[in-house]
Amino acid sequence: MRLVLLGAPGSGKGTQAAFLKERYGCIHVSTGDIFRENLRNKTPLGLEAEGYMSKGALVPDEVVVKMVSARLREQDAEAGFLLDGFPRTVAQAEFLDAFLQERDWPLDAVVLFAIDEEKLVQRLVNRRTCRSCGKIYNLLRAEDGFDGKKCPACDGEIYQREDDSERVIRNRLKVFGDQTAPLIAWYEKKELLRRIDVSGTPEEAFEALEAVLG
Ligand code: ADP
Ligand code: ZN
Repeated sequence: MRLVLLGAPGSGKGTQAAFLKERYGCIHVSTGDIFRENLRNKTPLGLEAEGYMSKGALVPDEVVVKMVSARLREQDAEAGFLLDGFPRTVAQAEFLDAFLQERDWPLDAVVLFAIDEEKLVQRLVNRRTCRSCGKIYNLLRAEDGFDGKKCPACDGEIYQREDDSERVIRNRLKVFGDQTAPLIAWYEKKELLRRIDVSGTPEEAFEALEAVLG
């Protein structure tokens, strides 16, 4: 399975990717996670990305493209992949297209996560992440004994992403509208786009996802 998950910040791409990974046994490539990991380890890539990320701006295309292509050249990508947070600009999509064509690796689908903007802001300001295992929680959905402090899955420390403040969130949504939304028409034209409603629970979104993937 080779999929692109396309959706605004907070639309639940990471959560669905975790479900899909289990189901299809393919790798999950989240550019945001890779940047955060690099930032944690203070690598040159992480330090370069930091200034953009903290403002909610996009990291330059050349940097992202280099990073993603290196990841997709690894052996385990041959069994399929979920791209989460990439491509985010038309230039990135054009690059991906050429890269996949060279390998004769057509995409199975591009799934658009549809939800309205106010709902996204509500989700993002209440989003929390486990520093150890990366699991995503939400204060609005107190599930599995989650208390906002410790991760019920691994006992790790829970934190709020720096870019999940309301001001930065508004900017990320604007950037999505300006730079990423044009990809919807771009993939529609290629007949790859499948739209799912993600305004309900994660489980409902996963059902919708399985339905469009057939
Ligand atoms: P979101 O919750 O906004 O979808 P991500 O975790 O995917 O966030 O990404 C966090 C930040 O990392 C983005 O705001 C951006 O600065 C940077 N980033 C991630 N993916 C890309 C990309 N494909 N192109 C440019 N910047 C990216
Ligand atoms: Zn954890």
